[in-house]
Amino acid sequence: MSGIVIKSREEIEGIRRAARILAKSLDLAAKKTLPGCTTAVLDAAIEEFIRSQGAEPTFKGYRGFPASACISINEEVIHGIPGDRVIKEGDLVKIDAGVTKDGFIADSARSIPVGDVGGEVKRLMEVTKKALQAGIKQAMPGNRVGDISHAVEEVAKAAGLEVVRDYFGHGTGLALHEEPNIPNFGPSGVGPRLQAGMTIAIEPMLILGIGKVRLCEDRWTVVTADGKYSAHFEHTVAVTANGPEVLTEYV
Ligand code: MG
Ligand code: MG
Repeated sequence: MSGIVIKSREEIEGIRRAARILAKSLDLAAKKTLPGCTTAVLDAAIEEFIRSQGAEPTFKGYRGFPASACISINEEVIHGIPGDRVIKEGDLVKIDAGVTKDGFIADSARSIPVGDVGGEVKRLMEVTKKALQAGIKQAMPGNRVGDISHAVEEVAKAAGLEVVRDYFGHGTGLALHEEPNIPNFGPSGVGPRLQAGMTIAIEPMLILGIGKVRLCEDRWTVVTADGKYSAHFEHTVAVTANGPEVLTEYV
């Protein structure tokens, strides 16, 4: 577990500031996620807000990513590139963004239903949210990463849904992606021990179909292999002596 960074109280305070800006930018984006709006317009609104707070959108230019947010719709799971796609009634829009403020980083994602998405998709969203909450609950000093993974998978399984196995949560805070990896599946009681001062991004991705995904030709967008909808929720969480603190909580 050598690569895991334990943050000081001051560093967590810095990450908390980045996380507040990020939560507000996602709130703003959620309100603008309406039929007729393009994903590029949403991305621009997120970037403008983040920069207005004296911060930077972490994703822009990260490994060459061309935008400030990943915006993925319906069967797109993660890493969708904003563009001229027009949002429609019934879409499930997943917005994932990062904020860097004074060198500190937070990472968060939400799934936003546009109008009536139907009962099945609504349930997918609710279960994904519940899986995230179950994972967060395990982010306690003394627990192991596998306790988070297992809790997430158990919620999905109990609802008869699949988790995406190809992409993981991760440490974050001083870099966008830090150790440890946090899979959304696996046994409890294994993996690195959680300690106060760790800051981690927990991010279940659940799918209505068989759980298989593939990478699109743009080399970024990940879609479900069978075209079924997926949902994604992510919070940056600090592991503290008093338990988990959700830094990117909705405002
Ligand atoms: Mg993210
Ligand atoms: Mg992440």
